[in-house]
Amino acid sequence: MRVMLLGGGGREHAIGWKLAQSELMTELISTPGNPGLAEVGAVVPGIDITDPEAVLSLAVANAVDLVVIGPEAPLAAGVVDALVDAGIAAYGPHAAGARLEASKAYAKDVMRRAGVPTGDAHTFHSLDPAVAYLESIDGPYVVKADGLAAGKGVLVTEDRIAAEAWVRVCLEGHFGEAGSTVVVEEHLDGQEVSVLALCDGERALVLEPARDYKRLLDGSIGPNTGGMGCYSPVTDLPARLVDFVLREVMEPTLATLQEDGVSYRGFLFAGMMLTADGPKVLEFNCRLGDPETQVILPRLDEDLLELLAAAAAGGLPDRPLRFKDLAAVDVVLTAAGYPENPLRGSAIAGVGSVQERDDVHVFHAGTRYTANGMISDGGRVLNVVGTGPDIATARAAAYEAAEAITFEGKQYRTDIAKGAQ
Ligand code: AMP
Repeated sequence: MRVMLLGGGGREHAIGWKLAQSELMTELISTPGNPGLAEVGAVVPGIDITDPEAVLSLAVANAVDLVVIGPEAPLAAGVVDALVDAGIAAYGPHAAGARLEASKAYAKDVMRRAGVPTGDAHTFHSLDPAVAYLESIDGPYVVKADGLAAGKGVLVTEDRIAAEAWVRVCLEGHFGEAGSTVVVEEHLDGQEVSVLALCDGERALVLEPARDYKRLLDGSIGPNTGGMGCYSPVTDLPARLVDFVLREVMEPTLATLQEDGVSYRGFLFAGMMLTADGPKVLEFNCRLGDPETQVILPRLDEDLLELLAAAAAGGLPDRPLRFKDLAAVDVVLTAAGYPENPLRGSAIAGVGSVQERDDVHVFHAGTRYTANGMISDGGRVLNVVGTGPDIATARAAAYEAAEAITFEGKQYRTDIAKGAQ
């Protein structure tokens, strides 16, 4: 099969790396890709992947059999609608399905109708009712911009004045269209875990859970980031969590989307909070997580291309997914100044020798090749994934490799998977 992969981050490098192992693969074309993806296939830079017509033209020109979409923005922009209308198979939801991520209010509405366990939420379109509501409840307050805000639209705070100010920021349109609606949500307490599934419209196959680290600094303090690290398996989970998420979250959500006329074929990501009242959904994403993908795919004992092609055609197999008895820990190496103002252009050394290890995978996120070698070119620069029979061994491999790779201003958390079994 000729496959086109949209995206160019660490998640997409991991997806491309896994797809390229398939016996069905004849050619992988990534756009915009990255230097890591260039090692497993062709890379076509320079098109706007949120422009459905541009993506369609490239797919037609390359006679691709399947398009796999990594990030959320092309999905929300209707790239899959354009491809499928033109008769090209695509794995990822149509724009109507991608609203699960692109509108927190819609996601809440689907969850309510589907009976999915989640926190109470109230949606507002103007300031006064939102402020009055905040005054009527106790903190901590959870205020979310409605639309895609690249992870920056959520404020969780004890401070009501700050919560009101955030409502104002959201409604004033600081997130573009994302800001016209604001959602105030019940605060949930507990440990978080990411549970992701492959969906074919009717059936969901759940992947092994992973736990990510969003804050910049050790001890989970400092600003929120795209993700500083991740590990899988997660052992301190309630018994049968995966089955619970399948029966109580994924299947009813797919059925409710069907009622809305949406056949959801793509990854569905449930950010779960393990509360004293049971697991509850914090958010839905309509794609794989970054960095969750980088620890889940090395563990997946399946032909990913076969699965995605089957899901795109509406026919996933009726059996659970197979996973290797392997642990994986991802340490994200970021640039100085990340997340606000990452320093670009630092020369990177040590990747080649680290990649020779069987127990380490390096997934590129923000790198670029110049005549003088590889340089940093983004906030999150590299994902260093260690694998092993248990988390402790995988963690040791990841940190040895993280130390062996050098670039000016390199920063990373030293407590990823610390204490995990
Ligand atoms: P979201 O993008 O909706 O997942 O929110 C980002 C982060 O904010 C989550 O990973 C949680 O850490 C936190 N968060 C979101 N919603 C809630 C909530 N209802 N209660 C507590 N924390 C939350």
